[in-house]
Order: sequence, then C-alpha cells, then structure tokens
Amino acid sequence: MSKCALVTGASRSIGAAIACRLAKEGYHIAVGCHSESSIEKGGKDVVARCRKFGVEAECFVADVADFSQCERLTKEVTARFGGIDVLVNNAGINRDALLVRMSEEQYDAVLNADLKSVFNMMRHTAKLMMKARHGAIINITSVAGLFGNPGQANYSAAKAGIVGLTKSASRELGARGITVNAVAPGFINTSMTDALPEKVRNDALASISLNRPGTPEDVAGAVAFLASDSAAYITGQVLVVDGGLRM
Ligand code: NAP
Repeated sequence: MSKCALVTGASRSIGAAIACRLAKEGYHIAVGCHSESSIEKGGKDVVARCRKFGVEAECFVADVADFSQCERLTKEVTARFGGIDVLVNNAGINRDALLVRMSEEQYDAVLNADLKSVFNMMRHTAKLMMKARHGAIINITSVAGLFGNPGQANYSAAKAGIVGLTKSASRELGARGITVNAVAPGFINTSMTDALPEKVRNDALASISLNRPGTPEDVAGAVAFLASDSAAYITGQVLVVDGGLRM
C-alpha cells in the first residue's frame, strides 16, 4: 500500500497516536505541526516512530486556523506523497471559561482553531479527493459538542459545528466515493485534560462506565477503523469513544 494520511495536530497526544496507528496500517504519514517549534517538541519523534513501521513520514508546518496556510499544506503534502487518501482533522485547542466571563478573544480563538480549521482543510483536500474519486475524512469532535459542558461554551459550539460540517460534507462528497465521519472522544488523558482543575477531572472520571480515562490509542483505533475498507459503507456518522461517559 502506498496511500497517504495527513493528520493535523500530530506532534503530540491524540494526533501523535493517530499518526502512529495509521503508519502501522501502512499509510505514509504527513505529520501536521502547528509551528517549527512543534516539530522540535514532538513532530520529529512522531516521524521516527512512524518510520519504524516501514512507511515514509515527514513533518509539515501550518496553522490550520489560516485558510491560505491550509491550501499550502495540502499542496505540499500532495507534492511529496502524490495525493491525500485520508485526512484526519485533529488539531484543536480549548480556552475554558464560564459564558459570562468568556472574552471575545477566547471565543474566536477556539472557533477558529477547532471549527474553521476543519472547513479550511476539507475545502482544499476534498477537491483532490473528488478528482481521485476516493478518500476518507475523519474529524475529531468531542462529547462536549454533543452534550455541552459547563465552562466550554466556545469549545462545545465549535465541536457541535464539526458535527454539522461532517454531515453536510458527507452528503456532498459521498457520490464521489469519499466518506466523511467524526470521532467524539470523551475524557482522554492528554495535555489538554491534564490542565483541567482536579474537581472537574474527578467528576468526569467518576462518570465513566469503563472506570478509566481513555488513552490517545483508544481514539486512534476508532480513526483507523473509519479510515479502513471495513468502514467503506459508513459516512456522516459520529463515533463516540468515551468509555460510556455519556449515553
Ligand atoms: P493537545 O494535547 O492539546 O494537542 C493538540 C494538538 O493540536 C497539538 O499538536 C497542537 O500543536 C495542535 N494545534 C493546536 N492549534 C493548532 C493550530 N491552530 N494549527 C495547527 N495545529 C494546532 O490536545 P488533544 O487532547 O490531543 O486533543 C486532540 C483533539 O481531540 C482536539 O481536537 C481536541 O479537541 C479533541 N478532544 C480531546 C479530548 C481529550 O480528552 N483530550 C476529548 C475530546 C476531544 P501545538 O501544541 O504545537 O500548538
């Protein structure tokens, strides 16, 4: 197999696990990195881990909140690997605050990095996939986008927006052989959840049926399934990976 998977926000945490898992499945990997320092802090290591599976891997820098940088990223990855077969929109941030204390900057930053980014990447990559008449797009949303979460109005709005974007795109692109799905993780142990206040962490953990936080590899497994031929007849869906946190 010589297919290429592009994973945004792949320099660490969930994105790194997805990149490594797709490398294990035989994909060449474009490791999307926010900046040159993201390459140094983690991207290089992810590339090395992917290459151990005998595939090619390389870091590519882009701020996915920026429309033109996403266009450049798509062109660079296509020039390097000959196409993009799987796109995983994983990059994201949170800027938590209660609604009445949330600044406009906090709201805009999260909407741009978490939602507009998914539009930016799909807008440029889907054109290539349409020409190739195949492809799989997997967008990382969150249970917060399905159920809401206090202190995360901006994040929940962005992640709910991803669900609508995913479903609309799946309807537009299905006839061209492209599947578009979303994965909604619950509470996954990463730097994003490490930063939560202890009470919020403990409350979330107490509600998980499987009695443990998720791992980045738990999310990567769901992404690998949706990218695989086993999921060829699945599109427009949201696969929740939360250990039973929300039902
Ligand atoms: P994380 O540890 O904070 O990693 C986020 C990644 O995204 C980093 O590599 C970061 O790069 C990159 N990134 C952020 N803004 C970017 C931008 N504008 N352009 C390009 N890259 C950017 O987060 P995570 O926990 O792995 O989360 C990954 C995804 O899963 C996110 O979409 C998140 O919302 C979602 N999710 C996470 C959880 C959870 O419990 N952890 C639950 C539900 C959903 P730099 O650090 O170099 O900026």
